[in-house]
Amino acid sequence: MGAAVYETIKASRDLPSPTGVTLEILRLASDKKSTMQELSSLIEADPALASRVLKLVNSPFAGMPRQIASIERAVGLLGPRTITGLALSFSLISGHGKGPCRGFDYGAFWSESLARAVAAKHIAQSIRGFAPDEVFTCGLVSQIGRLAFATAFPDTYADAIKEAVEGDHIALAKAEYAVFGIDHPRLAAELMRDWHLPDLFREAVLLQNLPDENRAGAKTRSVQLAKVLHTSGLIAGVLTCKDVAHAVLSDLSKAFGALGMAEAQLTYAIDAIGTEWRGAGQMFSVATRDVPPAATIYAQAVELRGAQRALPGGSTLAAGDENLLSGTETIRVLVVDHDPDVRVLLATYLSGAGYAVVQASDGKEALQFLLADGPPIVITGLEMPNMDGLSLCRAIRTHPGVAFTYVILSTARDAGEDKIVEALDAGADNVLTKPFRRNELLARLRAAERIAKLQLDLDAQRREVHKYNAEMEIANAKLASANDDLVRMATTDELTGLVNRREALHRLAQEWASAERNRAPLAIISLDIDLFKGFNDTYGHAAGDAVLKETAEAMRRTLRLEETVCRIGGEEFLVLCPQTDEQHAAICAERIRRAVEAHIVRFHDVALQVTVSLGVAERNAQTQTPDDLLRSADKALYAAKHAGRNAVVIASKCTAAANTSSSGARVEKPKAVIAAPSSK
Ligand code: GH3
Ligand code: MG
Ligand code: MG
Repeated sequence: MGAAVYETIKASRDLPSPTGVTLEILRLASDKKSTMQELSSLIEADPALASRVLKLVNSPFAGMPRQIASIERAVGLLGPRTITGLALSFSLISGHGKGPCRGFDYGAFWSESLARAVAAKHIAQSIRGFAPDEVFTCGLVSQIGRLAFATAFPDTYADAIKEAVEGDHIALAKAEYAVFGIDHPRLAAELMRDWHLPDLFREAVLLQNLPDENRAGAKTRSVQLAKVLHTSGLIAGVLTCKDVAHAVLSDLSKAFGALGMAEAQLTYAIDAIGTEWRGAGQMFSVATRDVPPAATIYAQAVELRGAQRALPGGSTLAAGDENLLSGTETIRVLVVDHDPDVRVLLATYLSGAGYAVVQASDGKEALQFLLADGPPIVITGLEMPNMDGLSLCRAIRTHPGVAFTYVILSTARDAGEDKIVEALDAGADNVLTKPFRRNELLARLRAAERIAKLQLDLDAQRREVHKYNAEMEIANAKLASANDDLVRMATTDELTGLVNRREALHRLAQEWASAERNRAPLAIISLDIDLFKGFNDTYGHAAGDAVLKETAEAMRRTLRLEETVCRIGGEEFLVLCPQTDEQHAAICAERIRRAVEAHIVRFHDVALQVTVSLGVAERNAQTQTPDDLLRSADKALYAAKHAGRNAVVIASKCTAAANTSSSGARVEKPKAVIAAPSSK
């Protein structure tokens, strides 16, 4: 449904879109055939982006130990996904800093989105299991659906969201859905699909604002990332100062708990995120603000709420946050009425009976209050501006977080049966007639209290279950991440970071089986550094290690994404080329040969030129097993060494070579070894 609506919108309207080079980068990053080098060249072609990439890689953000001056190196260090995210972020922010939608504050949107991105990255660093830089991108675009609406439907959208309570994403989504047939999380997810962003991100964006029970059945990782996004949204609210009055901090401590993070980390985290936010703001040219220390914000929030709850006449009632913090069992009641005299009267009766009273003057204010941190019992009048009592009742029943609030509607004594029926139909639990009689009021309150207490117990139990589930999810994610580390250690060569011998043979066996099944070609390249011993003997073992590392990196950079280079021995390597025949593997081998030759290894004050010899073999009738294939490639490699090194030899042609010594076809471009010191 959403996808069809999206296609219609896309066909007829402007939507936020990254600009030319960025689109090409996004396409390239999702294309398995592309190489790091192609990505680097593309970035180099856009000087503004190139300078930003260098700025980022050299900023404290990236945390690199030394100055990086080349784009290719930056791309290698940051990785294609971080680069893609960066390009996307710059492109979107610079292209959509302003727009025609009244009622949509573009500057505030980016400021908040950036705060979300930085917060999400920070949380990802703490909980592990997600790549922090990628989570940054996900946080940045998590609200992009709102910008998309404002861009595509400037006028209609301004009207559609006028009524929505700020910060209430579920109500906002409902309002959007009612007008456009799609809401902002879904619209964001569709855009993200077009931008080739990972499925995990799209799912998390869809789930970010939903209550836990509506996330059942979704993938564990998506739910976990959705929680990260949700918490980031709350933190962004604190940093951009929207919600101090509603003590969003109490929601935040719950959200932190759900992620398995200690509440004690909270103020520290907010302070750190605030600092990073300002740094990121400078880098992306997005407005931020100086944020007071989180401890001060917290104190302000509690104080503000205390002031709101102060009764006329000077008696101040216990505020919800203090209850929340100390765990006392005072039941809170929200009194909603347009008439201050009615509120004072009710508050006096109720506080005299030991209830904590909070007041609101109309339905809209009451709903905001309930959503921020809802008292379990509401007594509301009928006639009020903005939102009347019946609408408030209906709104409470449709908001998942507060739907079980006990609502007492107060009506005039002569209101008539119809009014009472209407009130009960709108979702009121009980009706109270004016003028109030103290005893009747308190009797109804006791009934309300019994139900509210049951509900609170139920909520507490449910929270326990959720907390337990969240802890299990986190434990699983940590286990998965520890497992990933172990697998990485067992399959990676420590010196070069390439796939090691054991894993190489395992992958070769897999590719072999797949080639057999699909009747597809499979080629390999056996590769050995020329006169390597000489580097060790002349400049020492450390120089030899440097040659190995840099040569490995030079090779890795030239390969396509589906090709794998592995270190299978001291200075011997193997390249797997699935779905590739001998001829094309030879082209790949020649590319590697040239790349190694062109890369000068600097070790202290000497410049070392390295060359490699390569043997190419393809799976064919003569090669019955993976071992046969390896042997065949090795034979070609030895032929290349024989022919003078720094050369590529194809296996099928080197058999012929033994018989026809005059044929030059078997050795491709033999080159002299220039600077490798010979030890032989
Ligand atoms: P050729 O061109 O015929 O391949 O000559 P070569 O010198 O490269 O070949 P040889 O097999 O004689 O030398 C390989 C050397 O690599 C011997 C060994 O000491 C060294 N080596 C093996 N592993 C490592 C390593 O991890 N680090 C260093 N620095 N040297 C290593
Ligand atoms: Mg060797
Ligand atoms: Mg060698």
